[in-house]
Amino acid sequence: ENSKSSYIKHFNEHYNHGVNTPKRLIGEALKERVESIDHDVCEPGDEDTFFVADLGEVYRQHMRWKLNLPRVKPFYAVKCNPDPQVIRLLAELGTGFDCASKGEIEQVLKMDVDPSRIIYAQPCKTNSYVRYAASQGVKKMTFDNTDELYKIKTLYPGAELFLRISTDDSSSLCRLSLKFGAAMDSTEDLLALAKELNLNVVGVSFHVGSGASDPLAFLKAVQDARKVFDQAARYGFFMHTLDVGGGFSSETFEVMAGVLSEALDKYIPGHVSVIGEPGRYYVAAAFTLACHIISRRTIEHSGNGEKSYMVYLNDGLYGNFSSIMFDHQNPIAQVLRSGERTYFDTSAAQDSTDGIEYSIWGPTCDGIDRIAESIRFGHTLDVGDWLYFENMGAYTKCSATRFNGFTDAHDVIYVASEPGAKALLGM
Ligand code: PLP
Repeated sequence: ENSKSSYIKHFNEHYNHGVNTPKRLIGEALKERVESIDHDVCEPGDEDTFFVADLGEVYRQHMRWKLNLPRVKPFYAVKCNPDPQVIRLLAELGTGFDCASKGEIEQVLKMDVDPSRIIYAQPCKTNSYVRYAASQGVKKMTFDNTDELYKIKTLYPGAELFLRISTDDSSSLCRLSLKFGAAMDSTEDLLALAKELNLNVVGVSFHVGSGASDPLAFLKAVQDARKVFDQAARYGFFMHTLDVGGGFSSETFEVMAGVLSEALDKYIPGHVSVIGEPGRYYVAAAFTLACHIISRRTIEHSGNGEKSYMVYLNDGLYGNFSSIMFDHQNPIAQVLRSGERTYFDTSAAQDSTDGIEYSIWGPTCDGIDRIAESIRFGHTLDVGDWLYFENMGAYTKCSATRFNGFTDAHDVIYVASEPGAKALLGM
């Protein structure tokens, strides 16, 4: 957090002379929007939940990446947040893209990104999508099993293949190696088969798990990748790229990057190119979500005469808070508008003992749809008031559903706290 705030400070001083701090820009956008809504007369949907996205944050994260991992070219993992402006900015900044499906490949190609800047990083692919990738010249793709090799032999024998190896992802929030990745004792056979089929294996890929917290997972994965490079050389493959996957987050980035860089220097020769597939790292902090209270239930506590409340928001676990279920997150509510006043002040954040107790629920009829079990605010919140949640950019909107008839298409208001991002996007 310290290194992150020092980055923000640095960029603000450099570009904004401390005036347009990211927080302030986001706050103004939130304020303008909620103050424009008249809950008494608005059309259904006008008061829907919405995001404010600071593209300057994405820009800063890119600069921070380049500074700390100069050897690793990022291929942004589109699945994490396929927001069109994020993709456009990253395309302008020159990153590559990790796509998991035909839809993602198509979205990126539409931005005039060269197919060589895309990796189809899904080891178990749909046949027709492989044919689509072939038709578009998207050559880079991953595999981790023999069936997939036969598939690729039939559908796209000219593909540039990355052998995805399994990792120790036990320290991560979202474990991926349960599902993907060749065990180290199977890589030799996979390489032998690829050779027999005359396929072109160009590199190794891995993913240490999303939301990884143990930097040593990177060290071990790089060591394993090196073993596979050596095996491949014995089979006569000329492997030229290592893909270190995702698993980075803002909070631990410098530590992870340090361990990874050292491991790369030690185990991966300089002529080997290195790419990564960061998702969460780029977008988590760039998106702030605002939701309004659609309903409230008062709980009278017999004995002490105190009251607590259940408040129901217009967004929940089946919507943009899907991250609670799928991404093991714990989004923190803050008061945006209470009564006639709009706040955007984290210093007024609740603590665990003062104030009135609330539980926060989503709008569907399912009891699982709970955003927070217990949180205290110094405000008496009521229907029509607004809450906001920071750090809502990763694995949120993209995995929202329309369960119970609610929309999954929410507005995004874009701001850019970096002139560099503004200029690239013509904002
Ligand atoms: N690459 C692959 C193959 C993934 O499956 C994922 C996430 O699931 C990512 C990259 C992005 O991971 P992260 O958001 O942790 O950077």
